[in-house]
Amino acid sequence: MESEKTPRSGGISVESEHIFPIIKKWLYSEKEIFLRELVSNASDAITKLKRLSSLGQYQDNGEPYRIDVSFSAKDKTITVTDNGIGMTEEELERYICKVALSGALEFIQKYEGQGDGSATGIIGHFGLGFYSAFMVADTVEVVTRSYTDAPAVRWVCREDGSYEVFDDADGHGRGTSVILHVNGEGEEYLSKSRLSGILDKYCAFMPVEIYLSDEEEEKKEDGHEEPVNDPHPLWQKKASDCTDEEYKAFYRKVFGDYREPLFYLHLNADYPLNFKGILYFPKIREDFENLEGKIKLYYNQVFVADNIKEIIPSYLLMLRGVLDCPELPLNVSRSYLQNNAYVAKVSAYIVRKVADKITSLFQNEREHYEKLWDDLKTFVEYAALSDRKFYDRVHDALLFTLTDGSKVTVAEYLEQVKEKHEQTVFYTQDAKLQAQYIEMCKEQGIPVVRLEGIVDMRFAETMEQYESAAKLKFLRVDANPDLYAGGAGADAEGVLKDLFSKACGEGTELTVRTAQLQNESVPAILTVEEEARRMGDMMAMYAPDAPKMPQKASLTLNTASAVIRRLEDGSYGERAPRVAAAVYGLALLAQRKLEADELRRFLADSTELLAQL
Ligand code: ADP
Repeated sequence: MESEKTPRSGGISVESEHIFPIIKKWLYSEKEIFLRELVSNASDAITKLKRLSSLGQYQDNGEPYRIDVSFSAKDKTITVTDNGIGMTEEELERYICKVALSGALEFIQKYEGQGDGSATGIIGHFGLGFYSAFMVADTVEVVTRSYTDAPAVRWVCREDGSYEVFDDADGHGRGTSVILHVNGEGEEYLSKSRLSGILDKYCAFMPVEIYLSDEEEEKKEDGHEEPVNDPHPLWQKKASDCTDEEYKAFYRKVFGDYREPLFYLHLNADYPLNFKGILYFPKIREDFENLEGKIKLYYNQVFVADNIKEIIPSYLLMLRGVLDCPELPLNVSRSYLQNNAYVAKVSAYIVRKVADKITSLFQNEREHYEKLWDDLKTFVEYAALSDRKFYDRVHDALLFTLTDGSKVTVAEYLEQVKEKHEQTVFYTQDAKLQAQYIEMCKEQGIPVVRLEGIVDMRFAETMEQYESAAKLKFLRVDANPDLYAGGAGADAEGVLKDLFSKACGEGTELTVRTAQLQNESVPAILTVEEEARRMGDMMAMYAPDAPKMPQKASLTLNTASAVIRRLEDGSYGERAPRVAAAVYGLALLAQRKLEADELRRFLADSTELLAQL
């Protein structure tokens, strides 16, 4: 051992020449995390001292704990200072020089030669956090005084791994200052806005107050300073201690969205999951941008990443929120998360809580829930489509909007129609276009569900699969003529058959039938068998240029209608073919949008018919 007052020098290791270039290379794209690493080390140092103090092993002098980040553009330094536990020379040697070193060597052995950047998240795993300072600095100084009576020391380490220890730091108080002498690449960080941006991103909720200052700026006269972070984020409180206004304010602050969230839920999972968080359901706007939610992952209040797909199932990524998982390491790699049993449990827990929240809103606040439904629907349907378990959990709370605007659950709907139509839900995909069928349904006391949204139809199909044991069926209002008829119909014969096979045109694969419909005013209705129509719709969506599939359509002539009776008894004379064409055109018009040539023909026929009157 050399004499006390002589600087001791050393070298990190023979292999050290490997370490720094590799750290730089691996972390190149995320250089800014050096600040997160240093500030979280500072925060840990304070947490440790607080713990010693609460254990009675250290006499707290009442001085507030704090972290100071400061910089000097003139001196080209960035300094992170804490008044935490500090280190003795021996500890400095052990923790910074040796422990970190062995981590670094392990890291290099494992990843050398695989410079694909996929392991940038590994750094903290190997206790390399401190060394990330070398991404922006060529010399790093650590001045530290332990909370014990040990003398303060100053350690200066250069990029090549060589270091010296000095005893000239008597003026330094308890705790640690890490001074980065920045290199060319680090110069961009010598700015208040840049540093404050990074602190905002990673340190906004760290548990110790953080202050940022420019060393060349005069301190405010009144000495007033504001921390840049909120050390007591809402998620750390008990849900029963938080107010509605606090939740909303937190949402506005963290997500910069001034529209109110639909609702939120406070998560607090005990051991062994041990995580906290708040999830918000944002109001989904029509545009795409808003579908991308944001779930921020924290590690003991230190920001880790946004939207970790491995933790949150993709269908929940529409949500916004914060999750604090101290069980996960601060720096996590994606592959680590993918194969992690803990992560799978967290994910399942979140899904369960979200589903429970939805059902409890339904059960306890039905009126309010119905108001939220239009905004919630896309999310719930998408989630239920993606995950059968989620579907099973929210099943009872699923609502359908009827054409009159009211909302019913599946069970309530089925109860209403059960006498005549077991397990069948009648729907429309366009209430305006199919108003005639809807009116006819209404006459028979059948409510009609609107499946007009983008995912509605896919959702209905999936529900049929999920509920296949119960034989649940969705039928569009124009799927089955029997719904509107008194009894079973028959194939058209004689004069009606002749008239309509001409009126419907060559090549249409249309079956013409007759039946007595309950509504006398409608001369004919067009129906398309459900399965065939769905196939056709699917083809039109995925292969719009392919030739149209022939649809199993039928035209049912209403024998209760005066028009049809007059066609049959010949009272229209030579105008009969035009009347038949008009009847067909009207039936088409009531069922779907006409093709251009169909519309032209219908208009021409109708006009000529008027001319003959
Ligand atoms: P990690 O934080 O992952 O352990 P680091 O390289 O960041 O790895 O730090 C190594 C060790 O150095 C820490 O575990 C801690 O014991 C010590 N250390 C680092 N920064 C400080 C600090 N500001 N105050 C006290 N000890 C520190």
